[in-house]
Amino acid sequence: MEISKRFDSIARKIKIVSYSITDKLPEEMGKLKIFFMLMGDIKSLHGKQKFRDTLTLHPQWNCIYSIDHTYWDGSLNDGRDRSNQPYYCPVGWKRYSLYVTDKFDEKFKGWCICYHGTKFSYGLSILLSGLAPATTKAHGSGIYLSSSIIYVSHPRFSEVKRIESSYRESFFKSGEYVQYILECRVHPDNIKNIACETLGAASTTIDSNISNDTLDWVINHQNKQIVDFNDPDASIICTGIMVRITDNHPGLLPESEWWYKSHLCNNKICCASGIDRDVLKRLIDNKHTCNIIYD
Ligand SMILES: [Zn+2]
Repeated sequence: MEISKRFDSIARKIKIVSYSITDKLPEEMGKLKIFFMLMGDIKSLHGKQKFRDTLTLHPQWNCIYSIDHTYWDGSLNDGRDRSNQPYYCPVGWKRYSLYVTDKFDEKFKGWCICYHGTKFSYGLSILLSGLAPATTKAHGSGIYLSSSIIYVSHPRFSEVKRIESSYRESFFKSGEYVQYILECRVHPDNIKNIACETLGAASTTIDSNISNDTLDWVINHQNKQIVDFNDPDASIICTGIMVRITDNHPGLLPESEWWYKSHLCNNKICCASGIDRDVLKRLIDNKHTCNIIYD
Protein backbone atom coordinates (compact mmCIF):
# COMPACT_ATOMS: atom_id res chain seq x y z
CA MET A 1 0.00 0.00 0.00
CA GLU A 2 1.22 3.49 -0.79
CA ILE A 3 0.14 6.83 0.54
CA SER A 4 1.09 10.26 -0.77
CA LYS A 5 2.26 12.91 1.65
CA ARG A 6 3.83 16.30 1.29
CA PHE A 7 7.06 17.02 3.10
CA ASP A 8 8.54 20.52 2.83
CA SER A 9 6.08 21.13 -0.06
CA ILE A 10 7.44 18.13 -2.00
CA ALA A 11 5.10 15.21 -2.66
CA ARG A 12 6.48 11.91 -1.38
CA LYS A 13 5.22 8.38 -1.51
CA ILE A 14 5.25 6.41 1.73
CA LYS A 15 5.11 2.64 1.43
CA ILE A 16 3.18 0.70 4.04
CA VAL A 17 4.19 -2.95 3.87
CA SER A 18 3.23 -5.96 5.94
CA TYR A 19 5.74 -8.42 7.40
CA SER A 20 3.09 -11.00 8.28
CA ILE A 21 -0.17 -12.04 6.66
CA THR A 22 -3.51 -12.47 8.43
CA ASP A 23 -7.08 -13.11 7.21
CA LYS A 24 -8.09 -9.59 8.18
CA LEU A 25 -5.14 -7.93 6.46
CA PRO A 26 -7.02 -6.17 3.59
CA GLU A 27 -9.59 -4.73 6.01
CA GLU A 28 -6.95 -3.65 8.52
CA MET A 29 -4.77 -2.07 5.83
CA GLY A 30 -7.85 -0.13 4.66
CA LYS A 31 -8.44 1.21 8.16
CA LEU A 32 -4.80 2.13 8.58
CA LYS A 33 -4.77 3.94 5.26
CA ILE A 34 -7.58 6.21 6.49
CA PHE A 35 -5.77 6.59 9.80
CA PHE A 36 -2.59 7.74 8.03
CA MET A 37 -4.68 10.16 5.94
CA LEU A 38 -5.93 11.69 9.20
CA MET A 39 -2.32 12.30 10.18
CA GLY A 40 -1.91 14.91 7.45
CA ASP A 41 1.42 15.76 5.85
CA ILE A 42 4.83 15.09 7.31
CA LYS A 43 5.87 17.78 9.73
CA SER A 44 9.56 18.16 10.29
CA LEU A 45 10.61 18.23 13.94
CA HIS A 46 13.85 19.90 13.00
CA GLY A 47 15.71 20.69 9.79
CA LYS A 48 18.14 17.83 9.42
CA GLN A 49 15.71 15.03 10.04
CA LYS A 50 16.04 11.95 7.84
CA PHE A 51 12.92 10.04 6.91
CA ARG A 52 12.53 6.48 5.82
CA ASP A 53 9.99 5.93 3.08
CA THR A 54 8.65 2.61 4.36
CA LEU A 55 6.67 1.63 7.41
CA THR A 56 6.54 -2.11 8.11
CA LEU A 57 3.54 -3.53 9.93
CA HIS A 58 3.39 -6.86 11.73
CA PRO A 59 -0.37 -7.65 11.87
CA GLN A 60 0.20 -11.10 13.35
CA TRP A 61 0.65 -9.24 16.65
CA ASN A 62 -2.27 -6.85 16.29
CA CYS A 63 -4.38 -7.05 19.41
CA ILE A 64 -7.62 -5.69 20.86
CA TYR A 65 -7.36 -5.07 24.59
CA SER A 66 -10.77 -5.42 26.22
CA ILE A 67 -12.67 -7.75 28.54
CA ASP A 68 -14.07 -9.59 25.47
CA HIS A 69 -10.78 -9.86 23.62
CA THR A 70 -7.32 -9.82 25.24
CA TYR A 71 -7.49 -8.96 28.90
CA TRP A 72 -5.65 -9.53 32.17
CA ASP A 73 -5.96 -8.19 35.68
CA GLY A 74 -2.96 -6.63 37.42
CA SER A 75 0.58 -6.95 36.13
CA LEU A 76 1.00 -9.46 33.28
CA ASN A 77 2.94 -12.58 34.21
CA ASP A 78 3.42 -14.44 30.92
CA GLY A 79 7.06 -15.43 31.41
CA ARG A 80 8.40 -12.71 29.09
CA ASP A 81 11.14 -10.56 30.59
CA ARG A 82 10.05 -6.89 30.64
CA SER A 83 12.49 -6.00 33.41
CA ASN A 84 11.35 -4.70 36.77
CA GLN A 85 8.44 -2.71 35.36
CA PRO A 86 4.88 -4.09 35.41
CA TYR A 87 2.77 -4.33 32.24
CA TYR A 88 -0.94 -3.63 32.78
CA CYS A 89 -3.63 -4.36 30.21
CA PRO A 90 -4.18 -1.23 28.06
CA VAL A 91 -7.97 -1.71 28.12
CA GLY A 92 -9.88 0.12 25.41
CA TRP A 93 -7.07 0.26 22.85
CA LYS A 94 -6.26 -1.68 19.73
CA ARG A 95 -2.63 -2.29 18.85
CA TYR A 96 -1.45 -2.15 15.26
CA SER A 97 1.92 -3.84 15.60
CA LEU A 98 5.02 -2.62 13.82
CA TYR A 99 7.80 -4.89 12.62
CA VAL A 100 11.04 -4.12 14.46
CA THR A 101 13.39 -7.03 13.95
CA ASP A 102 13.59 -10.81 13.69
CA LYS A 103 14.20 -12.56 17.02
CA PHE A 104 12.48 -9.67 18.78
CA ASP A 105 12.09 -11.43 22.15
CA GLU A 106 15.79 -12.31 22.21
CA LYS A 107 17.00 -8.84 21.25
CA PHE A 108 14.65 -6.87 23.48
CA LYS A 109 14.63 -9.18 26.50
CA GLY A 110 14.40 -7.04 29.60
CA TRP A 111 13.05 -3.91 27.84
CA CYS A 112 9.93 -2.45 29.43
CA ILE A 113 6.72 -1.33 27.74
CA CYS A 114 5.72 2.33 27.89
CA TYR A 115 3.72 4.85 25.91
CA HIS A 116 4.17 8.18 24.16
CA GLY A 117 1.28 10.42 23.15
CA THR A 118 1.47 12.99 20.39
CA LYS A 119 -0.52 15.07 17.93
CA PHE A 120 -1.76 13.69 14.61
CA SER A 121 0.43 16.05 12.61
CA TYR A 122 3.61 14.62 14.20
CA GLY A 123 2.62 10.96 13.83
CA LEU A 124 4.21 10.13 10.50
CA SER A 125 7.29 12.16 11.26
CA ILE A 126 7.85 10.11 14.43
CA LEU A 127 7.01 6.76 12.83
CA LEU A 128 9.34 7.40 9.88
CA SER A 129 12.25 8.93 11.77
CA GLY A 130 12.04 8.78 15.56
CA LEU A 131 11.34 10.73 18.72
CA ALA A 132 12.77 14.12 19.63
CA PRO A 133 13.51 15.17 23.23
CA ALA A 134 10.80 17.17 24.99
CA THR A 135 10.85 20.96 24.80
CA THR A 136 9.34 21.29 28.28
CA LYS A 137 11.64 19.66 30.77
CA ALA A 138 9.73 19.35 34.04
CA HIS A 139 11.92 16.45 35.17
CA GLY A 140 15.09 17.11 33.16
CA SER A 141 16.04 16.74 29.51
CA GLY A 142 15.11 13.62 27.60
CA ILE A 143 12.18 11.91 25.98
CA TYR A 144 9.03 11.65 28.09
CA LEU A 145 7.10 8.41 28.22
CA SER A 146 4.86 6.70 30.75
CA SER A 147 3.95 3.16 31.71
CA SER A 148 0.32 4.36 32.04
CA ILE A 149 -1.74 4.58 28.85
CA ILE A 150 -4.48 6.25 30.94
CA TYR A 151 -2.11 9.11 31.80
CA VAL A 152 -0.81 9.43 28.23
CA SER A 153 -4.37 9.49 26.80
CA HIS A 154 -4.94 12.97 28.30
CA PRO A 155 -5.32 15.49 25.43
CA ARG A 156 -2.30 17.37 26.80
CA PHE A 157 -0.27 14.47 25.38
CA SER A 158 -2.49 12.64 22.93
CA GLU A 159 -4.66 14.61 20.51
CA VAL A 160 -8.36 13.79 20.26
CA LYS A 161 -9.45 13.99 16.62
CA ARG A 162 -12.97 14.04 15.24
CA ILE A 163 -13.37 11.60 12.34
CA GLU A 164 -14.86 13.29 9.27
CA SER A 165 -18.14 11.72 8.18
CA SER A 166 -16.79 10.53 4.80
CA TYR A 167 -14.13 8.45 6.59
CA ARG A 168 -16.61 7.33 9.21
CA GLU A 169 -18.98 5.64 6.77
CA SER A 170 -16.34 3.67 4.94
CA PHE A 171 -14.23 2.33 7.76
CA PHE A 172 -14.93 3.44 11.27
CA LYS A 173 -18.66 2.66 11.43
CA SER A 174 -20.12 4.58 14.37
CA GLY A 175 -16.72 5.96 15.38
CA GLU A 176 -16.76 9.72 15.95
CA TYR A 177 -13.40 10.35 17.61
CA VAL A 178 -9.98 8.76 17.39
CA GLN A 179 -6.82 8.97 19.49
CA TYR A 180 -3.55 7.18 19.05
CA ILE A 181 -0.55 6.53 21.25
CA LEU A 182 2.81 4.99 20.41
CA GLU A 183 3.67 1.77 22.20
CA CYS A 184 7.39 1.80 22.88
CA ARG A 185 10.06 -0.27 24.60
CA VAL A 186 12.95 1.11 26.61
CA HIS A 187 15.81 -0.63 28.35
CA PRO A 188 15.62 0.16 32.10
CA ASP A 189 19.21 1.46 32.05
CA ASN A 190 18.00 4.28 29.78
CA ILE A 191 15.32 5.48 32.22
CA LYS A 192 17.02 8.55 33.74
CA ASN A 193 14.21 9.52 36.04
CA ILE A 194 10.80 8.23 37.13
CA ALA A 195 8.85 11.15 38.50
CA CYS A 196 5.49 12.64 39.44
CA GLU A 197 2.77 13.46 36.90
CA THR A 198 2.79 17.06 35.65
CA LEU A 199 -0.93 17.75 35.20
CA GLY A 200 -1.76 18.88 38.73
CA ALA A 201 -3.66 15.73 39.60
CA ALA A 202 -2.66 15.63 43.29
CA SER A 203 -6.31 15.45 44.41
CA THR A 204 -7.16 12.44 42.27
CA THR A 205 -5.92 9.03 41.11
CA ILE A 206 -5.00 8.90 37.43
CA ASP A 207 -4.36 5.17 37.06
CA SER A 208 -5.43 2.79 39.83
CA ASN A 209 -2.48 0.51 38.97
CA ILE A 210 0.26 3.13 39.12
CA SER A 211 1.05 5.86 41.65
CA ASN A 212 0.79 9.47 40.42
CA ASP A 213 4.36 9.88 41.69
CA THR A 214 5.79 7.48 39.10
CA LEU A 215 3.85 8.38 35.94
CA ASP A 216 6.50 10.40 34.10
CA TRP A 217 9.49 8.52 32.73
CA VAL A 218 12.41 10.52 31.36
CA ILE A 219 14.42 8.51 28.85
CA ASN A 220 18.05 9.18 27.98
CA HIS A 221 18.13 10.58 24.44
CA GLN A 222 21.92 10.09 24.26
CA ASN A 223 22.26 13.76 23.29
CA LYS A 224 20.66 13.09 19.92
CA GLN A 225 18.25 15.49 18.27
CA ILE A 226 16.17 12.49 17.21
CA VAL A 227 16.26 8.98 18.66
CA ASP A 228 15.94 6.97 15.46
CA PHE A 229 14.01 3.75 16.06
CA ASN A 230 16.07 2.05 13.35
CA ASP A 231 19.38 2.81 15.04
CA PRO A 232 20.63 -0.46 16.59
CA ASP A 233 21.77 1.51 19.66
CA ALA A 234 18.53 3.49 20.07
CA SER A 235 17.40 3.92 23.67
CA ILE A 236 13.74 3.66 22.60
CA ILE A 237 12.03 1.59 19.95
CA CYS A 238 8.44 1.86 18.75
CA THR A 239 6.59 -1.45 18.62
CA GLY A 240 3.03 -0.45 17.83
CA ILE A 241 0.39 2.18 17.24
CA MET A 242 -2.32 2.05 19.90
CA VAL A 243 -5.63 3.35 18.54
CA ARG A 244 -8.85 4.14 20.43
CA ILE A 245 -12.00 4.85 18.43
CA THR A 246 -15.11 6.03 20.29
CA ASP A 247 -18.71 6.86 19.36
CA ASN A 248 -18.63 10.06 21.39
CA HIS A 249 -15.93 12.26 22.91
CA PRO A 250 -13.45 10.13 24.94
CA GLY A 251 -13.64 12.76 27.71
CA LEU A 252 -16.95 11.04 28.61
CA LEU A 253 -15.28 7.71 29.38
CA PRO A 254 -15.05 6.75 33.07
CA GLU A 255 -11.24 6.49 32.74
CA SER A 256 -11.15 10.19 31.75
CA GLU A 257 -12.85 11.52 34.91
CA TRP A 258 -9.49 12.57 36.31
CA TRP A 259 -9.09 15.10 33.45
CA TYR A 260 -11.59 17.37 35.23
CA LYS A 261 -9.83 17.09 38.58
CA SER A 262 -6.46 18.05 37.11
CA HIS A 263 -5.66 20.19 34.08
CA LEU A 264 -7.84 20.66 30.99
CA CYS A 265 -7.83 23.96 29.13
CA ASN A 266 -9.25 25.43 25.95
CA ASN A 267 -5.86 26.29 24.46
CA LYS A 268 -5.55 23.88 21.52
CA ILE A 269 -1.77 24.02 21.58
CA CYS A 270 -1.81 22.83 25.18
CA CYS A 271 -4.79 20.48 25.35
CA ALA A 272 -5.72 19.10 21.92
CA SER A 273 -9.13 17.82 22.99
CA GLY A 274 -10.90 18.54 19.67
CA ILE A 275 -13.87 20.07 21.50
CA ASP A 276 -14.63 23.22 23.49
CA ARG A 277 -14.29 22.56 27.21
CA ASP A 278 -17.73 24.05 27.94
CA VAL A 279 -19.38 21.91 25.26
CA LEU A 280 -17.73 18.84 26.78
CA LYS A 281 -18.87 19.92 30.26
CA ARG A 282 -22.47 20.21 28.98
CA LEU A 283 -22.28 16.68 27.51
CA ILE A 284 -21.16 15.42 30.92
CA ASP A 285 -23.87 17.37 32.78
CA ASN A 286 -26.48 15.97 30.38
CA LYS A 287 -25.22 12.44 31.13
CA HIS A 288 -24.01 11.69 27.61
CA THR A 289 -22.03 8.47 27.43
CA CYS A 290 -19.23 7.16 25.25
CA ASN A 291 -18.52 3.66 23.93
CA ILE A 292 -15.30 2.29 22.55
CA ILE A 293 -15.58 0.79 19.05
CA TYR A 294 -13.45 -2.32 18.76
CA ASP A 295 -13.98 -3.59 15.22
ZN1 LIG B 1 -4.06 22.62 28.65
